[in-house]
Order: sequence, then C-alpha cells, then structure tokens
Amino acid sequence: MAIMQLIGSVLKGVLIFVVAALYFAPMVIASARGVSGNRCTTIVIVNLLLGWTGIGWLVVLLWALCAAVYDRPRLCPFCAEVMKFEDFFCGNCGRVRVSISADERHSIDTKS
Ligand SMILES: [Zn+2]
Repeated sequence: MAIMQLIGSVLKGVLIFVVAALYFAPMVIASARGVSGNRCTTIVIVNLLLGWTGIGWLVVLLWALCAAVYDRPRLCPFCAEVMKFEDFFCGNCGRVRVSISADERHSIDTKS
C-alpha cells in the first residue's frame, strides 16, 4: 500500500508541475519572444493576477503570442529621422528602410 501512496503523491506532484507550467506559459512565451519593457511587465502582472480566471489567462496568452517585440523607435539610416517600427518607407526622405535599431545607430555614432 505504501508504494501506491508514493505513486499517488508523485503523480500529484507531476500534475501540480504541469498546471504551474501551463499557468506561467504566457510569461515564458513573452520572454522567449523577446517582448520587453512595460509590455512584458504588464503581461507578467496580468498573468499572475488574472491567470486563474481562465479568460484572463487566454487573453494574456494571445497577447504574449501577438505583442510587438520592438518597443523602441527606429531611425532612418539615410536621414536619421525617427520611424515607427511598422513603417516601411521613411516619412522624411521617402526611402525604403534598411533595418537598423536606435541602439545600433547609437553604437555606430559613438564608435566614429
Ligand atoms: Zn529618411
């Protein structure tokens, strides 16, 4: 009988682990996708506070899957005008954007 009890408690432990892993999945997905800053903080908070409602968990899961990864504005490599991440053409000089982040630009500026 002791063996059956042991198996029972091991299964219970595994079940708790699986439920916990599922519960925190939105947070894990968000961080794995590289969502950062306020958006990531909000996902973590909503996950912890509203995850138990089920609907809150579903919403935060979809959010973690869809949230835009880039928070920072990007700079046009030709005229250094700030561009929105979604923009493909620069609003200032009209040229097609070559991907460069504000951080990359900053590191180029400080190197030269
Ligand atoms: Zn430009």
